[in-house]
Amino acid sequence: MLEKMEILHVEKVIEEFETMTKDAENVQRETLKKILEENGSAEYLQNLGLNGRTDPQSFKACVPVVTHQDLEPYIQRIVDGASSPVLTGKPITTISLSSGTTQGRPKFVPFNDELMETTLQIFRTSYAFRNREFPVKNGKALQFIYSSKQSRTKGGLFAGTATTNVFRNSQFKKAMKAMQSQCCSPDEVIFGPDFRQSLYCHLLCGLIFREEIQLVSSTFAHSIVHAFRTLEQVWEELCVDIREGILTSRITFPSVRSAMAKLLKPNPELADLIHRKISGLSNWYGLIPELFPNVKYIYGIMTGSMEHYLKKLRHYAGDVPLISADYGSSEGWIGANINPNVPTESTTYAVLPNIGYFEFIPLKENVEEQVHDRGDANILSMEPKPVSLTEVKIGEEYEVIVTSFAGLYRYRLGDVVKVMGFHNSTPELKFICRRNLMLTVNIDKNTEKDLQQAVEEAAKLIAEEKQEVIDFSSHVDMWTDPGHYVIFWEISGEVSDEVLKECCNCLDRSFVDAGYVSSRKVNAIGPLELRVLRRGTFQKVLDHYLGLGAAVSQFKTPRCVGPTNYKVLQILCDNVAKTYFSTAF
Ligand code: AMP
Repeated sequence: MLEKMEILHVEKVIEEFETMTKDAENVQRETLKKILEENGSAEYLQNLGLNGRTDPQSFKACVPVVTHQDLEPYIQRIVDGASSPVLTGKPITTISLSSGTTQGRPKFVPFNDELMETTLQIFRTSYAFRNREFPVKNGKALQFIYSSKQSRTKGGLFAGTATTNVFRNSQFKKAMKAMQSQCCSPDEVIFGPDFRQSLYCHLLCGLIFREEIQLVSSTFAHSIVHAFRTLEQVWEELCVDIREGILTSRITFPSVRSAMAKLLKPNPELADLIHRKISGLSNWYGLIPELFPNVKYIYGIMTGSMEHYLKKLRHYAGDVPLISADYGSSEGWIGANINPNVPTESTTYAVLPNIGYFEFIPLKENVEEQVHDRGDANILSMEPKPVSLTEVKIGEEYEVIVTSFAGLYRYRLGDVVKVMGFHNSTPELKFICRRNLMLTVNIDKNTEKDLQQAVEEAAKLIAEEKQEVIDFSSHVDMWTDPGHYVIFWEISGEVSDEVLKECCNCLDRSFVDAGYVSSRKVNAIGPLELRVLRRGTFQKVLDHYLGLGAAVSQFKTPRCVGPTNYKVLQILCDNVAKTYFSTAF
């Protein structure tokens, strides 16, 4: 019998969103009340003297703004199996490992059913708006999603990355079905113990179901680009598997092999077709629509540190639209992309006022403090004056503070966002950068965004030679006197020394921050150094993070490597092939 399919009622989802966002202030007030009532018995809140009060004023007066570091002792007790309620009323049974790109090691954050529900609400909301513009038919999604290692903590809690916790939840599959976006790969592939094997099988499943694929997606755009770069290497092997109906011996896990065996039948016609299509491509342009003729769009987080991959993704995508996925973190979700039509770089995220209580630290007022900002420790010593969700101003930048249903109260997420407008009375945020990722030697101050723009500019010079920057990172070298910026590049192929010298100068000139330029002119900052890395270096960085328990699904290349992240710094420094110093000043 045919399974009855429950399709999401998109107009209803949109209607609910419209109603809620028209009354954002009240919805926030109610949401805070709900969070505090549900968790009032938790030790953390009990000790803050709220005495049952749930209004924003009392909340702000009694509860301090904190960082992850402040909450670590509480979270650790939960991880170790505390028997009394520590941060939440109901016990926490699952822990998420955030990607830990910034600190160089994953952080523990609580995960619970409420967080799962808000995740699905975000997914449904953006899907509803997306589907209005780009309707998908009943088919399948080629999703490059992977699980991290799941383990048990000392106290018996499940621990995995947030995405793994979401993918493993039975509600996830149901929701994906309702959104006509179910993954074309079997669970054994998604949860396979080796991501390279899973990636190969995802590609194979995509090709087997090529006619049915409606969208290609991943959590972050990096994984999509990574997947198609891999396809460039393994496509002939994939064709052999399809032709013979036998999976390559490189897939060794029995569970994955048996799941794939159920899908794989000898199909020489399909193998020939794929071979022909790929052979006909020019430099892989338009690979995605060529292989998946019914694909409607490509979906994944594409803003912030993912912007670097857009160029390559556009190349693979040809004329298929790219749509950025929503904005959130392991700690909780924030906003949905409800304007899928705008160019990816201009994506904004409308905050859902019922999924958490949100506050924003205005960055303009804290300019002086920012100058001294070198990391979390100093951010801590500041006295921020946050404003509430409906008080933010268009055009201003803020740091996001979340209070969640999963035991985080006035928690500094560390992200900088800019208010671009309002949808009804809820703000639409543009993601700017991580706040503590900063290149600074003295009075200069360059963010992740400035770095990305500089790299984009300099990369144009190697694009003329048909080469590209596969990935990049940076570091402030204070061992030299004066200190200077170091930019690491991994490049797709050979580029002459002359061009790379010019790239180095271009990078140096592209940091236009007044503090940087004036310091460079008087040599208070030394010449910028470009270090070209051997091919595969960023793969080693990825492997390093996977070894720490991260998942490919959540991976973000660290854009600025601080001295305490010495393992990553060592990988980068050990793999330098060529070095150039700027002569721009
Ligand atoms: P994780 O620690 O792995 O949970 O990653 C969460 C972080 O990823 C956020 O705090 C942001 O810095 C970044 N992030 C999440 N969503 C987006 C987005 N839509 N655009 C840009 N950056 C994002």
